[in-house]
Amino acid sequence: MSKPTCIFCKIVNSEIPSAKVYEDPDFIAIRDIQPQAKTHLLVIPKAHFDHLDSPGAESVTVKIIAVANEVARLEGLTAHGYRVVVNTREWGGQTVAHLHMHVLGGEQLRGRFA
Ligand code: AMP
Ligand code: ZN
Repeated sequence: MSKPTCIFCKIVNSEIPSAKVYEDPDFIAIRDIQPQAKTHLLVIPKAHFDHLDSPGAESVTVKIIAVANEVARLEGLTAHGYRVVVNTREWGGQTVAHLHMHVLGGEQLRGRFA
């Protein structure tokens, strides 16, 4: 198989460094390089799917929420609360075409939906 060019595949394969906070056989979680909240994590499936609704992505879309909750718990976000976001395609604001879930918290979050 040819080498992946996707930046998150490279992070999953440790070809480029990241601040990893969690790993299991199917997922990693890393700190976002441009945090939009005091705590801003990305839950990234090791398998590459472009989008939330890509063919086959159902195999990770259910589990990714459980991982997000676990990572939030590990980061101490549970008591006060946190937000999970999956930006999808261009109008949804997705900039990296490798399915991932944002976990934001650690402070009172501003805004709500847009
Ligand atoms: P999205 O815009 O929803 O596709 O989210 C992509 C996120 O990946 C953005 O919040 C970026 O700041 C973040 N990001 C891009 N490159 C890296 C990297 N090398 N390490 C950590 N986060 C990154
Ligand atoms: Zn990828």
